[in-house]
Amino acid sequence: MLSNKRVLITGGSRGIGRSIALAFAREDAKVVVSARHQDDLEQVVDEIESTGGSAFSVTCDVTDPDQISQMAAIVEERIKGVDILVNNAGAAGSHKFLNHPDDLWHRMLAINLSSVYYVTKALAPGMLKQEWGRIINIASIASKEGARYIAAYTASKHGVLGLTRALALEFVPNVTVNAICPGYVDTPMTDTNIENMVNLTGRSPDQIKQFLENSSPQRRLIEPEEVSAVALMLARDSARGITGQAINVDGGAVMY
Ligand code: NDP
Repeated sequence: MLSNKRVLITGGSRGIGRSIALAFAREDAKVVVSARHQDDLEQVVDEIESTGGSAFSVTCDVTDPDQISQMAAIVEERIKGVDILVNNAGAAGSHKFLNHPDDLWHRMLAINLSSVYYVTKALAPGMLKQEWGRIINIASIASKEGARYIAAYTASKHGVLGLTRALALEFVPNVTVNAICPGYVDTPMTDTNIENMVNLTGRSPDQIKQFLENSSPQRRLIEPEEVSAVALMLARDSARGITGQAINVDGGAVMY
């Protein structure tokens, strides 16, 4: 159990983040979920509280450093910091490169990479001071391999892995920093990806879904709960020797 551990999950209102929030709540952790839309966050808080867990939400757009500072101040005031940070908030975007919109490039870097920099900068000092902490970055197999039409997303997720590895060494020995690299997960983000790929390729939604499934040797999408299971493992005391790692949850598509 992770009783008395305080965990903040960015993007905790749906998809992978929601699954991670519910998983930590089942382990008796004090859960803070954050995202931009309060109504979605409140549904997760209600779900946790209805099963006897402890949770609250803080609205925060992680592309805005001022909102991140405000979130950290609220967390400090209410629960005196966190023990575990899950940098999960993110977004996908695709475009052919030659006429790639610059704003898509900047948006992908802000939501997927700079957010991890700013949120970690705000919350890691407390972990270092108390000499215990876990930072878990939800990266992607796009952190390790390239793919067509997702240059900005791929660059941002490769950056997350670089940041993970650098901080793992900077924060030794008591604060571990790891990344989880999922393949395609069955979440609202993947539904949006499918719509975008339908527009880009002219194929049907079923054909695109099958294409995504076939990109995994297991020929299926990953369930969010498979990602949260790895997050729980990394958060435990017993994982103190695991740092600077990037663990694939992708049905065997990538093997390094
Ligand atoms: P979803 O789109 O289902 O959920 C994204 C979450 O992030 C929501 O809670 C959303 O809430 C929040 N969010 C989005 N933008 C912001 C923002 N600017 N500030 C704060 N919160 C934000 O995504 P997934 O659950 O699929 O993805 C979660 C993470 O996993 C992402 O980092 C993604 O890159 C990664 N991943 C996903 C894969 C997949 O196939 N789905 C594969 C590999 C990695 P709100 O809109 O209210 O802000």
